[in-house]
Amino acid sequence: MEYDEKLARFRQGHLNPFNRESTREDPTQADGDLSQNDSPQIALPVEPSKLEIHSSDRVMDLGLAEDHFSRPVGLFLVSDVNQLKQAIEECKRQILELPEHSEQQKDAVVKLIHLRLKLQELEDPDEDEPNVRLLQEHRFYKEKSKSVKQTCDKCNTIIWGLIQTWYTCTGCYYRCHSKCLNLITKSCVKSKVSHQSEYELNICPESGLDSQDYRCAECRTLISLRGVPSEARQCDYTGQYYCPNCHWNDTDVIPARAIHNWDFEPRKVCRSSMRYLALMMSRPVLKLRDLNPLLFNYVEELMEIRKLRQDILLMKPYFITCKEAMEARLLLQLQDRQHFVENDDMYSLQDLLDLSSGKLSCSLTEIHTTFAKHIKLDCEKCQAKGFMCELCKEGDILFPFDSHSSVCSDCSAVFHRDCYYDNSTACPRCMRLQTRKQSLFQPASPSGLQ
Ligand SMILES: [Zn+2]
Ligand SMILES: [Zn+2]
Ligand SMILES: [Zn+2]
Ligand SMILES: [Zn+2]
Ligand SMILES: [Zn+2]
Ligand SMILES: [Zn+2]
Repeated sequence: MEYDEKLARFRQGHLNPFNRESTREDPTQADGDLSQNDSPQIALPVEPSKLEIHSSDRVMDLGLAEDHFSRPVGLFLVSDVNQLKQAIEECKRQILELPEHSEQQKDAVVKLIHLRLKLQELEDPDEDEPNVRLLQEHRFYKEKSKSVKQTCDKCNTIIWGLIQTWYTCTGCYYRCHSKCLNLITKSCVKSKVSHQSEYELNICPESGLDSQDYRCAECRTLISLRGVPSEARQCDYTGQYYCPNCHWNDTDVIPARAIHNWDFEPRKVCRSSMRYLALMMSRPVLKLRDLNPLLFNYVEELMEIRKLRQDILLMKPYFITCKEAMEARLLLQLQDRQHFVENDDMYSLQDLLDLSSGKLSCSLTEIHTTFAKHIKLDCEKCQAKGFMCELCKEGDILFPFDSHSSVCSDCSAVFHRDCYYDNSTACPRCMRLQTRKQSLFQPASPSGLQ
């Protein structure tokens, strides 16, 4: 049977590792020897020409004539995959159309197997290592980069990208050898961030090595302060002790120290705290007013930022009703600090860090100026939404975010600050609304009772 013979030869070609010697012709190919040992490649059939199907369809020939080894390791083009998928569909259609049990149909089946194997190879270059692994809530992706030298978060040794397969978690950026994947005991901090999005706000809450049974808080290795059998390293964020495998003396700003002491000095933290803190950095989870109200008296810039944020919230209604402002994407200037257009009291640790360095005050003042300029100078529609002080009926048009204006908390009318505080009576607009409401009900109630 010619068909079986072809298939057998085809299969042999795929399994026989010696074929790659005959197929590969370029001995100067970079890292060829390493990739050969590292990742078994699918070899071409011995004599691809004999398998060639005499088809006029050019799409059908895709992926057959190509030399697999000329493809740079770890790199493939998306179009290759798409073209292959297209070719597979085309091939399936042909098989259905060709006369049953005919030689052409058998050839087409061989071709289909071939194309599918090629597609599999492209989508998953390393046959026995899947691209995605889900472990301990981590979502590990196989790394494409072969040359980078990284350190494995599990075994603490170098990852030789060229000869070793390694994975990175897309959630928390934990990276490790594929051989270390199944040894991971620590679950992904990304899930911790979503379940438990609150910081530890006690400064280095230590409970002592004895409460940890003299073991690493993460991997349970025996540790002691004498360094026997393993050195105990304290994490300033959790207050717990760790072994040198789980604590690499990385340093980070500690939220509790920032909140209570306004201290941004980086302290030593363990690996998992470092990953957690990195993921939490820009999350607006700190309600300063509740956590440490005294901070506003102590840190001058905080008052300034709070005023700017309150103003921005007052400007927001102008922008969301103004077509020009929307087109100019003015509010997007705050896209890195989305919470600034939603509230005025939540802060991220990044906000506080930028605040202490003076960076936040600078950028926010600039944004405030741009916003005010649009409403008060550049845009006629926004200008028209200004207020006249009803108390003195004098002076310029007022805007709620002007430094010399006050806003009625009930009806949002705007007055001169001085007029508003001098006036012992209630807001004239609220009073007007009140009388109108009464006059509406007056004629209705007596007649309704009788
Ligand atoms: Zn490792
Ligand atoms: Zn993870
Ligand atoms: Zn450990
Ligand atoms: Zn406008
Ligand atoms: Zn006034
Ligand atoms: Zn009012």
